[in-house]
Amino acid sequence: MTSPVRIAILGAAGRMGRALIDALPQHGSLKLGAALDRAEAAGQGKEIAHGVALSAELAAQTANFDVLIDFTRPDGTLAAVKQCVAAGRGIVIGTTGFTPEQREEVELAAQQIPVCISGNFSIGVNLCLALAEHAARVLGDRFDIEVVEAHHRMKVDAPSGTALMLGEAAARGAQLSLKDAAVYAREGHTGAREAGTIGFATIRGGDVVGDHTVMFLGDGERVEITHKASNRANFANGALRAAAWLSGKPAGLYSMKDVLA
Ligand code: NAD
Repeated sequence: MTSPVRIAILGAAGRMGRALIDALPQHGSLKLGAALDRAEAAGQGKEIAHGVALSAELAAQTANFDVLIDFTRPDGTLAAVKQCVAAGRGIVIGTTGFTPEQREEVELAAQQIPVCISGNFSIGVNLCLALAEHAARVLGDRFDIEVVEAHHRMKVDAPSGTALMLGEAAARGAQLSLKDAAVYAREGHTGAREAGTIGFATIRGGDVVGDHTVMFLGDGERVEITHKASNRANFANGALRAAAWLSGKPAGLYSMKDVLA
């Protein structure tokens, strides 16, 4: 029998951290080795689950895990990536909201350790990415593409990482570059919609876990691809599956597409 993969959860006191701990018993090949969060997080030093106490010192815990799962903020992720490189540990990154420079740092680290990063670990969303790319390819430039997303009132970045991934998928299908095509805000006298652009709209409020729709708006018809997350278990299960998959992989930058292949 192979021994379980030991995981550490960074951001263990947060919403996704709790969802990961709740989902863990369904993943028999994984075992909780360490639980980490900021020094100020409630419950520091106390048992969080499975006999593991919440800790703030990642460097002191690297002997206790094989793969780190990170759902924090970009500064927390980048500090953790450095520790994982130093200790030769793999990392699953669920945190969103990286600047292009921060994303580059993650990509550099992936030359030394295995890194699986996804703005959305849900299997349904990953299916929607493939559908959006296909729809954009079929519908071509006669349909306008818009991405609408809604999240809970505590979310700090916009548009969501998933909205951006859906925009990138649609851009690939339509043979556009999202960097040039994206329109992130409209206000005042904007003029008519420019062809070949991809618009984003953001809704924030309540306890919405995550709704995303890619709209393809044509003359006389409209196609919508929608995903609605009703709880965080779907992200947690995907990230845990990614951690099991990542263990023992060579250094490299992986995505949920690789995990599900
Ligand atoms: P949250 O605020 O509930 O939890 C974040 C936790 O990280 C908190 O406990 C906080 O104390 C901790 N943290 C923040 N900075 C830290 C640091 N520097 N070092 C250590 N710990 C730190 O947020 P959440 O809803 O759990 O989301 C966390 C991140 O995951 C966000 O970026 C969110 O957008 C992203 N997210 C991604 C997916 C996905 O599938 N990829 C799904 C849901 C959320």
